[in-house]
Amino acid sequence: MAENQNLGQVMLLPEGATRLLGRDAQRTNIAIAIAVSNVVKTTLGPKGMDKMLVSDLGDIVITNDGATILEEMNVEHPVAKILVNVAKSQDREVGDGTTSVVIIAGNLLKGADELIEQGIHPTIIIRGYKMAAALAEKTLNQYSGKADINEDAVLKKIAMVSLGSKNIGEAETKQHLSEIVISAIRAVTEKNQKGKFVVDRDYIKIEKKTGGSIAETSMISGVIIDKEVTHPSMPRYVENATIALIDAALEIEKTETDAKIDITSPEQLQGFLQQEESMLKEMADKIKNSGAKVLFTQKGIDDVAQHYLAKHGIMAVRRVKKSDMEKLAKATNAKVVTSLDDLTKEDLGVAGIVEEKKIGGEQMVFVEECKNPKSVSIFVRGGSQQVIDEVERSLEDVLGAVSATVENNGMYVVGGGAIEIDLADKLRQYSGEVGGREQLAIQKFADALESIPKTLAETAGIDAIDTLVQLRNKHKGSDGRKYGVDIFKNSVGDMESMGVLEPTKMKVQLIYSASEAAEMILRIDDIISSRSKQGGGMGGGGGMPGMEGD
Ligand code: ADP
Ligand code: MG
Repeated sequence: MAENQNLGQVMLLPEGATRLLGRDAQRTNIAIAIAVSNVVKTTLGPKGMDKMLVSDLGDIVITNDGATILEEMNVEHPVAKILVNVAKSQDREVGDGTTSVVIIAGNLLKGADELIEQGIHPTIIIRGYKMAAALAEKTLNQYSGKADINEDAVLKKIAMVSLGSKNIGEAETKQHLSEIVISAIRAVTEKNQKGKFVVDRDYIKIEKKTGGSIAETSMISGVIIDKEVTHPSMPRYVENATIALIDAALEIEKTETDAKIDITSPEQLQGFLQQEESMLKEMADKIKNSGAKVLFTQKGIDDVAQHYLAKHGIMAVRRVKKSDMEKLAKATNAKVVTSLDDLTKEDLGVAGIVEEKKIGGEQMVFVEECKNPKSVSIFVRGGSQQVIDEVERSLEDVLGAVSATVENNGMYVVGGGAIEIDLADKLRQYSGEVGGREQLAIQKFADALESIPKTLAETAGIDAIDTLVQLRNKHKGSDGRKYGVDIFKNSVGDMESMGVLEPTKMKVQLIYSASEAAEMILRIDDIISSRSKQGGGMGGGGGMPGMEGD
């Protein structure tokens, strides 16, 4: 059948129609992995291009982010899905390096394919790759510089390199975004019991609204809640706000089955309503008596309770997400109280300003100027949805790169392909010591790492082979180890003095993710189409877009 020529479709044939075995299965899988890696390749580095992804419905995503491209590509083949998952897990673990991970994985498979062709068994290649990854990690740690993480200098360089490959504004704007990210990370960084720095990125909330320019993106020392103040006569601006966080409704509980109440006279009805009203008033009074000027509740607020809160001059916001309540607690130092009766002055948090602002036609509540907040927000602005989406993705990368450095005692390596040249060199030396057939795999691993400087040269339009040769020679000299691809001058240059620094932790993660993906794909020697499972199994999607699970 003609479909067989399109490798990506083999898996999609009806049940039992196709079975690929042994070498055929491997060839197919590797070809697909290389094809996927070629797609993202052109986006690598500051000279990399963006991809525009257009869905059936015409939704447009413009991005440079490897994980996003793969995710949006709607790839059906299981091997491609493995790569999507690798990029995603790199994204989760360190936030940055998603393009590199796919490029390296593709090249590891390309190398493996050549070795299999020479009759080397995949299990030997896998063993060699594992040895290579372990040595690469050791070497990365050995060759790392160590930054003082109490100072901004190195962190700022790392942030700028991570942002450098994103097409979002001029250098000045990127400086501004870098500073925002570093302040945000400083705010949420804590020392754990072992004295290790931990950055909980969950407490850095990114809120975005179209309008304004990227340069107007700002850090809020507190939390932005995408909700409005519940009642028109409540205050919209509260200074030195005392804040109550409640996980309880200011409503009269209706019993489960809508309990029937027999009301036989108008007096009884009147009495019943009055009783309800006084209960709701009491709830509002409890908030007031605690001393709170602002109330956030995870649940609802009855109209009558709203009325009394407004009368007391209290600003209230209802149906706040649980995750936002946690952030508010961290930012204002309040305690979330589950019963109104328990609310005391000690539970309240504090913020310099709580204000409802109208942004792009929608109301949002800004809880700002918190003192020493352990949860902060970044408010992203930009001209269109595509722009703010890409700014958000880029900020995620930078947040990942900077926190990877902070959490790893400030360890960094030199980028621009420089460290990959060193690693390749070390691996080639090592392969000689290892001997056996594994040494061939270790050499292929070295080649795969060099695909990074090679690709950087290609995106800059410089001859890749010449560049590699120059870099290898430079690195043999005593002062040349910091040399990488100078994509702006179309030559090689000292990356350290140019400030091209990257977190060691990101590179370590990248190497393990890429080699694990390659190993996983190499182990497959049989592709059988299977029955569709809910959420999509291997090859089960049957060409129906949107069926595949995460
Ligand atoms: P990834 O998704 O893998 O992070 P990027 O598009 O961000 O991909 O590109 C990262 C690569 O670009 C890294 O190898 C990094 O060292 C390189 N790079 C970044 N800035 C520069 C620069 N100014 N000069 C040379 N290389 C750079
Ligand atoms: Mg990057």
